[in-house]
Amino acid sequence: MVECAGCYGEGCGECQGTGRILVTTCPLDFAGDDVWDALEMTSYLEHGALPIPGGVLDQTHIFLEAARFIGAERARQRAAMWERS
Ligand SMILES: [Zn+2]
Repeated sequence: MVECAGCYGEGCGECQGTGRILVTTCPLDFAGDDVWDALEMTSYLEHGALPIPGGVLDQTHIFLEAARFIGAERARQRAAMWERS
């Protein structure tokens, strides 16, 4: 069982209100090429590199949305690790 990514454990329709989801296959099977591309491109941000030459305003909206989501998720996971330790 893992925390529901749709509601972060609060309970929603996706997890039938339990806040947890039973995973019966490898979670990596859920990630398509677009997810891997987004993870790779946002990892370059940590080194100050953007995928499209120019500044932040030159990047695509979908990239900025993905970077914001992935950055928030990474921060949330780091915080959860600190709480457990
Ligand atoms: Zn949920």
